[in-house]
Amino acid sequence: MASLFIQRFSQLLLNMATAAQESGLAHRGYTRVPFQQFGGMRERRIHLTFDDGPHPTYTPILLEELRHAGIQATFFVMGRHLETSLGQELIQRAASEGHQIGNHTYSHLRLTELTEHQIRYEILKTERLIGDRDKGIKILRPPYGAYNSLVDQVALELGYRLVLWNVDTGDWDPNYHDRWVKHAMKQIVTRENSVVLAHDNQTTTVKRIGAFIAQIQKLPGSSFIGHSEAFPTREKIDSARPVFA
Ligand SMILES: [Zn+2]
Repeated sequence: MASLFIQRFSQLLLNMATAAQESGLAHRGYTRVPFQQFGGMRERRIHLTFDDGPHPTYTPILLEELRHAGIQATFFVMGRHLETSLGQELIQRAASEGHQIGNHTYSHLRLTELTEHQIRYEILKTERLIGDRDKGIKILRPPYGAYNSLVDQVALELGYRLVLWNVDTGDWDPNYHDRWVKHAMKQIVTRENSVVLAHDNQTTTVKRIGAFIAQIQKLPGSSFIGHSEAFPTREKIDSARPVFA
């Protein structure tokens, strides 16, 4: 009984401390998030994904930042960037450092505008270039998030799940170059599960990724999760419907 009281009391203190920190965040322009009574602080699980690489200059910098922070991310790679030995080296390094490699098609076309044959070609050509670096986990991020029932059907037939996102950093967009971290944080604070879209072919991304990670780490209840938690695999794939979180 006494220990339950102590446990609840210390949880209450923790909640108060967290609330104080969060109201600090609210003053800095972040959305205030409500707390569950005695339920502990609200948890926020975050998975980072990087599209459009590998890039010869920026991907190694990102890998270094992630290694330093102990974070495992997903890289949705483009087949045409894997034709060089450096491209191959970079996905090998990413995979051996614990990151997941996902398929982002060969040439980054809008799959909804292609024939069934072309969709299949875009996915399979990239799959061959990725080789065993995907560790047998088949996830596809359609360029521009564009999919329809045909894309679904082909992805499913090839054993893929579609993986989209629910936090868009806007890191590629010139309008957000100076403020993509703030833009992303505004979305992350409102969610329990965040699948974050960023790009490893943008100078603005590598410039601010350290600050982005630090801000997430400062958020109460936040933790980075790996791909297996963000996109749990199913025994039997019965749908290739997109995964947001
Ligand atoms: Zn892309």
